[in-house]
Amino acid sequence: MEILLTNLLILAQGGAKPETGNIHIRDGKIVHVGKCPKGCKYEERIDCAGKIAFPGLVNSHTHIAMTLLRGYGEGLPLHDWLEKKIWPAEEKLSKKDVRAGTLLGIIEMVRSGTTAFNEMYVTGVDEIAKAASECGIRATVGYGMLDRVGGKSREAVLKDAEAFAKRVAKSGGIVKPAICCHAPYTCSAELIQEGKALADKLDCMFHIHVSETRKEVFDNLKETKKRPVEYLQSLGALGKNTALAHCVFVTAREIKMVAESGASVLHCPVSNMKLAGGGTCPATEFASAGANVALGTDGAASNGSLSMLETMKIFSISQKNFYWDALRAPAGQALDFATQGGANALGINAGEIAPGKGADIVLADARAPNLSPMHDAASAIAFSMHPGNITDVLVCGKFLMRDRKITFADEEKASEDAKEISRRLVG
Ligand SMILES: [Zn+2]
Repeated sequence: MEILLTNLLILAQGGAKPETGNIHIRDGKIVHVGKCPKGCKYEERIDCAGKIAFPGLVNSHTHIAMTLLRGYGEGLPLHDWLEKKIWPAEEKLSKKDVRAGTLLGIIEMVRSGTTAFNEMYVTGVDEIAKAASECGIRATVGYGMLDRVGGKSREAVLKDAEAFAKRVAKSGGIVKPAICCHAPYTCSAELIQEGKALADKLDCMFHIHVSETRKEVFDNLKETKKRPVEYLQSLGALGKNTALAHCVFVTAREIKMVAESGASVLHCPVSNMKLAGGGTCPATEFASAGANVALGTDGAASNGSLSMLETMKIFSISQKNFYWDALRAPAGQALDFATQGGANALGINAGEIAPGKGADIVLADARAPNLSPMHDAASAIAFSMHPGNITDVLVCGKFLMRDRKITFADEEKASEDAKEISRRLVG
């Protein structure tokens, strides 16, 4: 299928100058950007005057089915919230429930400009991978292993994780497997080592939560005499395919370790602040040290939403505020972390509007009052845009939303189904 999107204002990446022109898409990839060469052929020409195009956003860390628990136990401290509300409700989750929560999450993500997500969950990962594949959104999905809690042995969780990863890899397409260890405090040292070795063997991402709270850092120091990132390094768990969610409480030494290893940092500013962790991931210091930084929402239950637009803004303003530095984390960097940073972490050929890249593109109404006047396109996207401004979303050149209509699901039914399930979960 060949499509020509015409008369767009195009922001190819965070630091680029916006330009007016066309985007030509063939077989899921961008063929050219700007003026059309002579004799340019296409099957469909779509006039996009008044719209701005930017690369699809990548939600680098989420637990998508937690949409079903959005707002439940609101306002409780982290451990009360987990132990009294979230875990008991999650125990009741069936595979069908996970599927419904995933579909709702994908709809919300597409409406807010997300074209790829990185998922870790314990229940129903097959359903998550299947739903993503059927909807046509890019995803990396992993079964969240733990052996220090949850009653399953190391051998059993490794076996499940490997079998799941192989099933996903075999199905091909744009949904990829990952090997996930939940966290250093829920996984044994052997599980982390064997998990990373398995990810290397299967040539996929190794995804783990680390240094999310101060308590975790203190407990890890007490137990291992090492801080969590140092501990992971000592286990050989840092490498190019490692994706570290959170990294809030880290030292300069740990920042250097991450950068030197080639691992990615998955920064979830909204969830960190909403759970009152009290720190800020030094994301811009990680980037200055040479680490790849991506942004994520975390689950909707600890965030309130899956909007990467909101995440870009909160990332940027929290860095500025934390460092007392207005020059830090400019809008263009927020957009680059949310696009290229995420694409690098997930290993996908996207994150930029350029020839040869996957056609993961978001279009928004550039004439909307909240985006006018547009002195700075990156600022308009990262700081002023809301999901209601987004009109079209393409993944691999296919419309997942066209003229504000979701193409892959009945939106009303998806909301109703999720509502019904969530009543049972919290009952
Ligand atoms: Zn998480």
